[in-house]
Amino acid sequence: MYTFHQTGNTYALSIDNHCDLTEAILTFIADQHITAGEISGIGAVSEATLRFFNPQTKLFEDRTFTQQMEIANLIGNISVMDGKPYLHLHITLGTADFQTISGHLLTARINGACELFVHKYDTTLLRVHEESTGLNMYKFE
Ligand code: FE
Repeated sequence: MYTFHQTGNTYALSIDNHCDLTEAILTFIADQHITAGEISGIGAVSEATLRFFNPQTKLFEDRTFTQQMEIANLIGNISVMDGKPYLHLHITLGTADFQTISGHLLTARINGACELFVHKYDTTLLRVHEESTGLNMYKFE
């Protein structure tokens, strides 16, 4: 599903072609016991499901885009919620006509390559669901 090279707390991570991007990242951070950190990367996908959050209604709109797109930017963080690894990822995708689509990344199918850098923090960052915003927020003591 992936290969990686580690130096200190930083990993260069290559996701295998045709894998589900989110599933691969979650598998990697579980395998490496990463409970806090940051992710950035680039690559290409053939399909992606993105999420937009409406703060007024506190509802999510999810939409799937099926076309070849470049990951112009993937950025986000790693934490823990309800005892499980939690990803908060934003993605910008570039289309064949040089437009962009962006949102929260739910799932994406790699088609080409995906090169990520993951920086691990030697701590655990927790999240809890907050009713007032409808969001899963950091919980710092
Ligand atoms: Fe967000």
